[in-house]
Amino acid sequence: MIPSLSPDSLEAWLLWQQQLQPFTFDAKFSEEINSSVSEEITRAFMNAGIISAQTSVQPAAKKAEEAIDESLPPLEKVRIRAGRCEACRLAAKRTNMVFGEGNPDADIMFIGEGPGEDEDLSGRPFVGKAGQLLTKIIENGMKIPRSQVYIANIVKCRPPANRDPMPDEAQCCIGFLKEQIKIVNPKVLILLGKVAMKNLLGIDGSMTKAREATYEYEGIKVFVTYHPSALLRNESFKRPVWEDIKKAMKYLGMM
Ligand code: SF4
Repeated sequence: MIPSLSPDSLEAWLLWQQQLQPFTFDAKFSEEINSSVSEEITRAFMNAGIISAQTSVQPAAKKAEEAIDESLPPLEKVRIRAGRCEACRLAAKRTNMVFGEGNPDADIMFIGEGPGEDEDLSGRPFVGKAGQLLTKIIENGMKIPRSQVYIANIVKCRPPANRDPMPDEAQCCIGFLKEQIKIVNPKVLILLGKVAMKNLLGIDGSMTKAREATYEYEGIKVFVTYHPSALLRNESFKRPVWEDIKKAMKYLGMM
């Protein structure tokens, strides 16, 4: 039974219900919702992950391809398309799309899961507490400036309440990341956390086991390790993260 609430309260109620007992409705229900209630209530259903964003929001490709100056650098063209993107429900509440940043010719590319609050407000990846820790790993541990690597996420817009991106959101967004990887063409990808690992490598297991192996993505060597936010919660992850970073450094001849 869906209660009669304001759109914001309805979204909170739906999210709560989803946590208690996840549920979804079929495409027909999604169409009915989209055609019979206000845009705000439709968004509440989408934000709670109950109906598909793609049933009511214009796909990214059409809007994003409009009038982009072809002479711009390749990454900039992708950034403009991502900035116009409304392909999934995360567009509704973003302050800024967080594309990624760093050296477009980087040897090392770090990939996290998605922007948090600080990143959403600033439009830059990994600038909150977890980002500051990543910067320390790069600058104090690897002894290179952060500006020398490239940093991006699986999704470019902030999931509400810092939840993990949902599978359909990741699927909607990952094309941008794949373009970034192709353009930067790093020698090494370092995936930070299970969301990155699952969406780029298709591996859905424990990080403890996954980090024992190395992988390849489109001919690029891939290392996986814990997300810096996990380190903030559990100091015991520091040692394995440093071991993983050293594996990547050895592969690159940095030590
Ligand atoms: S998260 Fe990605 S797919 Fe979703 S709206 Fe943002 S840029 Fe588009």
